[in-house]
Amino acid sequence: MNELSHLTGFSRDELTSFVKGLGMPRFRADQIFRGIHERRLTSFDQMTDLPKALREQLKQSAAIQSLTVESKYVSSDGTRRFLMKTADGRPVEAVFIPTENRDTICFSSQSGCALKCDFCLTAKLGLLRSLSAGEIVEQIITVLNDVYGEGGETPHGTNLVAMGAGEPFLNFENLIKALEIMSDEQGLFIVPGRVTVSTAGIVPKINEFAKLERRPNLAISLSAANDELRDKLMPINKRWNLDELLTSAKSFEKTLKRGERFTFEYVLLGGVNDTDGHARELADLLKKYDLRRVKINLIPHNPADQLGYHPSTAEQVKRFKELLESSGVSAYVRTPRGRDIYAACGQLAAKSEPNLVQIAGV
Ligand code: SAH
Repeated sequence: MNELSHLTGFSRDELTSFVKGLGMPRFRADQIFRGIHERRLTSFDQMTDLPKALREQLKQSAAIQSLTVESKYVSSDGTRRFLMKTADGRPVEAVFIPTENRDTICFSSQSGCALKCDFCLTAKLGLLRSLSAGEIVEQIITVLNDVYGEGGETPHGTNLVAMGAGEPFLNFENLIKALEIMSDEQGLFIVPGRVTVSTAGIVPKINEFAKLERRPNLAISLSAANDELRDKLMPINKRWNLDELLTSAKSFEKTLKRGERFTFEYVLLGGVNDTDGHARELADLLKKYDLRRVKINLIPHNPADQLGYHPSTAEQVKRFKELLESSGVSAYVRTPRGRDIYAACGQLAAKSEPNLVQIAGV
């Protein structure tokens, strides 16, 4: 973005050095940090607690926003999908999912995705590029400002899930930096306990993640309980197979604190991985690796024309869940949200058809 520093992705320390470099005292960095993250201001002009000359100086060398919102789609269930563009024209999508008790924002870690999961529409984009920490944080600020107004209170608090486009663990550093910025109590104050990062199974990064002191919750996308099928559905399995993945998951489990659990996601594909036999195979696999502090999130497949799969029947979803439970495994079915606007799991493919209900002018 023409040499302007994108301050939204600066840690507090980085902001302090930046401000010092401009010859300003340190407390200005705190004011700017609060302005961006706590007050969610989007221009320096709004930071009226800074002297005017300073605001002008900042405008010469820095920016708060780097993404532009192209369109916003609102689902009949209240879910909102934001299609944004980076300064170099790459699509970025974030989704706001309201629920009774707490809202969830699903954000993207990359533009597109490299992983080629066979049942996922984002895979069709290929990887365009990884997002910067600032582009990650800005998605959340943009969504909150749309829903609650600039600087408005977030009445329910917000959960964050790194479950949008991309593989978060292939953009590990920027992701962790963004989460650190967002957890700052003088900013968005979204603590790690309210964040879940989902990975398709980048084993070395799961191991690295396990060592982090303050870390978010972990979800691992499994979707098959044998290598032959997982190779086909999720080609990343050819790089790190189930044995490596579950061994790493077991080591991760040992680092959990009291009362904590982690999640395996399992996309249910009609006739492909959803039979009674598959449910038993999954339960057996968890037993084999002695994985106890896990829950399974069953995700009904969100179909699309380009994907050659269909959803499981409602009866089979129920049966799959019951079979897991009867083997002592906690299982939940994730309710699809925002399917009508291409906002549900695996549907983020930068779709901008005019036939989607669009509320313009955000
Ligand atoms: N790359 C990471 C983050 C994406 S999370 C990961 O794979 O975990 C998105 C979740 O949606 C993943 O669990 C993925 O398996 C699931 N998913 C992908 N395509 C889907 C589809 N068409 N229907 C339902 N879930 C899907």
